[in-house]
Amino acid sequence: MTDLITIIAAMSVPDSIVFATGNPHKLDEVSAILAEIGVTVIGLDTLGVDVPEPVEDGDTFEANAILKARYYAEATGRTVLADDSGLEVDAIAGEPGVISARYAGIDGPRSVVDPANNAKLIGKLNDLGVAPEQRTARFVCTMALCAPGVDEPLALTRGFVEGRIVDPPRGSNGFGYDPHFELPHRGVTTAELPPAEKNAISHRGEATRAMVEKLKEL
Ligand code: IMP
Repeated sequence: MTDLITIIAAMSVPDSIVFATGNPHKLDEVSAILAEIGVTVIGLDTLGVDVPEPVEDGDTFEANAILKARYYAEATGRTVLADDSGLEVDAIAGEPGVISARYAGIDGPRSVVDPANNAKLIGKLNDLGVAPEQRTARFVCTMALCAPGVDEPLALTRGFVEGRIVDPPRGSNGFGYDPHFELPHRGVTTAELPPAEKNAISHRGEATRAMVEKLKEL
């Protein structure tokens, strides 16, 4: 009974939600969508949260999003939204998947890590002789909303965008695998799209819009 009361109390959605990211691209994208229902999104940097990052060792995007949201909800005492996202390439059994951010196994700034991850991916597809039309892939994003003191997430959503891995890279917007991810019906990579257009069709946008629907229900 006490648990039920705690859950119901936590389910009244506050005017502001902490988004567990230090990535400004993600913060802008998610803030713009949640602003539509009057919810302000606060990034971890703005909040000045001084705790070590949690180890994202879940086997699925869902597990990682939940562990991150739960961790920062306990650390901040606030309702926290967290996402986990990545790229799944069909020809290599869904790699890089949950290790998309660290596929190449190196640490460092995004300007170093992103090209290394891309080089590993393209190298692997080339080594395996995967034909261009078989390089189908998707970006996946899961989002979890957690409140302090409550084990179960208040809400969990997922979004996808389907595409194809191309080489050479094209475009200078976005981050990560964007320059190699072509939208088949558009003939452009997600790095060639202006940010607002990418947000309108992206996996993160879809997961965030699904979160908006859940927030309305709460
Ligand atoms: P995380 O969700 O912050 O753990 O990021 C996972 C990784 O997946 C990123 O570091 C990128 O390499 C990749 N990724 C996720 N979303 C995107 C996207 O929208 N464009 C390009 N790469 C992405």
